[in-house]
Amino acid sequence: MAYDKSNIFAKILRGEIPSIKVYEDAHTLAFMDIMPVSKGHTLVIPKSDAENIFDLDAAAAGPLLLATQKVARAVKAAVQAPGVMIAQLNGPAAGQTIFHIHFHIIPRWKEDLSLHGRAQADMKELEETAKLIRAQL
Ligand code: 5GP
Repeated sequence: MAYDKSNIFAKILRGEIPSIKVYEDAHTLAFMDIMPVSKGHTLVIPKSDAENIFDLDAAAAGPLLLATQKVARAVKAAVQAPGVMIAQLNGPAAGQTIFHIHFHIIPRWKEDLSLHGRAQADMKELEETAKLIRAQL
């Protein structure tokens, strides 16, 4: 899918719709998520066009990760959260709803949300999957 410049975050970048900004540099912008999962939920986006991780320019990736780290530190301190989850969704099947790449910074206080499975996988199955992934690299 080609990058669609009418997405909400592109509009925020162009100043066409408001956002509550917390950080900005030459390459990135961070602002409060309008429907926070927890207190302090913040989004970090690159200023360059990219729908998802797969079409993010190498030149944009470094500044985006560094800005996410910087803002995550500030969020953690600001809301005094013992833990912070960083999430990034790619494609509708993964739950992505806005098609301008973004990192979610989500403070966590307890194990209320989880990305962890509950049972250990079969090691043979893991090895077979790892083999399929290595073949694509
Ligand atoms: P995604 O599901 O694409 O990973 O996340 C999109 C996020 O953008 C959601 O957490 C949603 O709450 C947030 N969001 C949606 N519309 C707006 C908006 O107009 N302004 C802001 N600041 N956040 C938004």
